[in-house]
Amino acid sequence: MNYCGRFAPSATGPLHLGSIFAALISYLDAAFNRGRWLIRIDDLDETRCRNVYVDQVLTCLKAFGLQSSRPVVYQTDRISKYKSAFSALDELGILYSCDCSRKKLPKGFYPGFCRHRMGEPLLDKMATRINSAEANACVDDLIIGSHQTDPLSDFIIKRRDGLFAYQLACAIDEQIDGITHVIRGIDLLSSTPIQCLIAKKLGYTNPKYGHFPVLVGPDNSKLSKQTFAEPVNWETPGQTYAQLASLLLLKNTPDTIESAESWLSYFSTLGNPRALISSTYQTDTFPL
Ligand code: GLU
Repeated sequence: MNYCGRFAPSATGPLHLGSIFAALISYLDAAFNRGRWLIRIDDLDETRCRNVYVDQVLTCLKAFGLQSSRPVVYQTDRISKYKSAFSALDELGILYSCDCSRKKLPKGFYPGFCRHRMGEPLLDKMATRINSAEANACVDDLIIGSHQTDPLSDFIIKRRDGLFAYQLACAIDEQIDGITHVIRGIDLLSSTPIQCLIAKKLGYTNPKYGHFPVLVGPDNSKLSKQTFAEPVNWETPGQTYAQLASLLLLKNTPDTIESAESWLSYFSTLGNPRALISSTYQTDTFPL
């Protein structure tokens, strides 16, 4: 099979342990399946992305031996593609303008207050949402098996400030990049049905999806830039890999290996990374 996987970090800050874990698992899955692995920089959000973070992310991935099989791609080079796809979705009559303020909305779920605008011309200075009624909330997952997601919101695909949103860009990117396998953290599970819906509406082939547990800190919240997770030190990738090996409960890890390349060779002797993850933890999280 012509496997192509990817890692799609946002250029909003340096990589932390959770991001290296995500990069590593998708990389190992591609390697195990003799596939290619692509790095794609999510840099659409000009309010939060910085060139300095792009440089840091790429330097870090290189230091960890995680090299893209093809030149790194950037979402900001694809705005015209997102624009055409957005227009195509609009022509299908499944988008609507929304001016709900965050304050008005319940946390984590959008109950469709503005759906009554569907079919009307889209309005400037408002966010655009996609009607998720036709999305399939049951994800056939390569790691966690068949999994029902939480109730689906009508996600924003274009923000009020005119920027295309993650859900739209990501679905289009998978198609442009020929991604066959999306292996990513379970925190993104609820995005999958929407991205599949967008792909279906645009006539794309859906990649296969596998979601693995995410790393959580002592307060049980996901390690993330928003919660100021510490950046990994790219000068000592061996120490970070050793930490991940112990999280994965790997026994008999060689204590003499230091280099990123040697760690990657060691990880690749362990066989199927999906099986490794499923056998280590049955839950959605890896507590640190
Ligand atoms: N940039 C997104 C993130 O870092 C990518 C998610 C994905 O892998 O689809 O959360």
